[in-house]
This record gives sequence, C-alpha cells and structure tokens, in this order.
Amino acid sequence: MVARREAASNLPKVDAEEILDGIRLWVDIESPSHDAAAVNRMVDKVEGELAPLGAAIERIPGRDGFGDVLKARSPWGGDGPGILVLSHLDTVHPIGFKENTLPFRREGDKVYGPGIYDMKAGAHLAFYAYRHLVRSGKESLLPITFLYVPEEEVGSPTSRAVIEAEAKKNKYVLVTEPARDGGKIVTSRKGVGRFVLEIEGRPAHAGARHQDGRSAVKEMARLILAIEGMTDYERGITTNVGLVGGGTGVNVVPQFCRAEIDLRVPDAAIGEEMVATLYGLKPSDPQLKLKMSGGMNRPPYRKDAKIQALFDHAKEVCAEIGFDLEDVKLTGGGSDGNFTAALGIPTLDGLGADGYGAHTDYEHIFYSSLEPRAKMWIRLFETLS
Ligand SMILES: [Zn+2]
Repeated sequence: MVARREAASNLPKVDAEEILDGIRLWVDIESPSHDAAAVNRMVDKVEGELAPLGAAIERIPGRDGFGDVLKARSPWGGDGPGILVLSHLDTVHPIGFKENTLPFRREGDKVYGPGIYDMKAGAHLAFYAYRHLVRSGKESLLPITFLYVPEEEVGSPTSRAVIEAEAKKNKYVLVTEPARDGGKIVTSRKGVGRFVLEIEGRPAHAGARHQDGRSAVKEMARLILAIEGMTDYERGITTNVGLVGGGTGVNVVPQFCRAEIDLRVPDAAIGEEMVATLYGLKPSDPQLKLKMSGGMNRPPYRKDAKIQALFDHAKEVCAEIGFDLEDVKLTGGGSDGNFTAALGIPTLDGLGADGYGAHTDYEHIFYSSLEPRAKMWIRLFETLS
C-alpha cells in the first residue's frame, strides 16, 4: 500500500504554479504580428520546448513580412487523421508594451501581461497537457498535431492555406483562443469581412476656387454614416469604419480619402448580401469616384450537429473533472476556427484560459482557470477517438 502511494506521488501533477511559470516565459517574448523577427523568437521558444518531447517538427518559412509557421506532430498515432490544435503566436501589442504599459504581474486571481489572454496562456495550456501526457508515459488515442501561426491578428493572410490543408487531414480541431464569461467556450462565430473604400474627388483652393472642388472627405463623411447605418443588431450585422484618412492641407479641398471597414455577419447568405450592398454604394456627384475593395475574410463558423457532438463530449469530460462547461451564443470575434469549421471539420474554440480584456492595456487571465483548463486539455487528448 505504501509502495503504491509512493508510486502515485511520483506521477506528474497538474500544477497551476508550473503552468503560470511556463506562460510567463512565453509572454516575456513580445511578438507583434508585423514584427517577423520578434514572432520568430517566439516560434524558436515553442519549437525548443516541443522538440525534446519527441514531436516531429516542421517549420515553414514566413513570407510577406510575417514570421514562420510551426507544425509539430506527436510521435504516436500514425499518419491517420487526428486532433489539430490551432494556436497563434502573435499578439496585437507593440514591442515595449510589457515594459511601459502592461507589465507581467499577478494581483489576486488576475495575471496581467501583453497577449497573456489572447492567446499565450491558451497555447501554453495545450502544450502543457501534451507534455503532461509525455511525462506520464501516456499517449492519446489519436495523433496530435500542433499548428502555430504567426499572423492571426491580421487575418492569417499567409497561414490560411496551411490551416485549411492541415484541418482537412484531421478529425477534430481544437483552438486555444481565450475562454470568456466564466470559462465559456466557443462553438460558433460570426463571419468577418474587411473592405477598403477609396474616394477620389477634385482638388481646389479652399478660398479662391472652393466651388470647383469636390471634397473626397465630405463624400466620405456621408458614406461613413451610410455604412455605419447598415448595422442591424437584430439580424446580427455590424459595420465599423475603423480607420479614416484623407486630405493634404487645411486650405485644400481634399482630392483623396480612404477608409477601412470591418463587417461581421451571422451567416454566409447575409455575408453575400452585405458585400453586394457595400459594392453598390454610389457617389453623390459624377465627379467623385468610389473604389471599393476587399470582401469576406473569415467565413461564418456555424454550430452544426458534429460540433454539437464534440461539445457534448467535452462537457462530459469537464463534468468528470468537476466543472460545468458552457458555450457562448454566437460571438462577433473571428478566429482561425472560422476557416476549419467552414470546411466541415468539427471545431471547438475558446479552449484557452479564462480572463478579460483581449487587445487592451488591462488584458489578464484568471489564475484559477489554469488548473481546470489544463485538466480539460489532458482529458480531451486522452478521450477523443
Ligand atoms: Zn487570438
């Protein structure tokens, strides 16, 4: 009996302090999407931690100014379809944010740091669960593939094709984006569209020849109201003109103006309708030219029967651990889970740490969520078949 107890105590335990120590090392490496060298330092770190655990590593060099894509596959489980764990290693925060604005710190249950909630804690939790299996001498029933992308926060322009190709080779996709509202996970997301509207008017001296000018800024002001007016909360449609720029001087009737638009829609049909509406905008004067570009970037992620079944399984697993897993109603935030769910691969998202304030200067996770989430990941790996 004593011997058995000793043997049991030698098993690795799920330890929140150890998890947080690991997360801290990842948060310490600041990795804004547009800084390829910085993101690659993060890729080096993750690669260096996965390689000693027997994972087969593949690193796809970055392009278009972005960092590398990292792929790591468990040595067990063969070549067949398995579990794809999807994470991004970039954050929205610039270098220096950690020092100047959001230092790593723990205050009670809250642990602050740039990108800690979105999504370094989540990415680390899945890694920790994998390492726990290896340390315990266990294997999952299915092979596990980790995919770390460098530019999710800007829409995954260089990694989307890799994500989709990897998803098609797997049975399930688990995404390490943050949990929310008391640990709720994500089983559906709105589709995301991105557009650029450029207006060309006619320049003129603002004093001497005002009447000859056709102001691109004035036209944009009109169109911003029209575009923002397309928001319809009842139908789940939002539009946001998030960036505007135009004009060359206060005494010049502006020739050019440019705006960037974010669109969120609940389903593909409404997405098509909104794209057509945006492209159908007309100038108020024949001397003004409008040029719209862009379109749907992330397709809607709909909770279908297969996703429901995967969620039910996760709920059961969590009940055994001792907590009730819930999912949020359709969220407006897009993720790489939109790509994989749209391909029909059962996808659960928001499996990362619980916390608050993604993309802000008060971004934090809840320390108390680390242990239950790590256990959830371990049991998902052990039970998915
Ligand atoms: Zn994220």
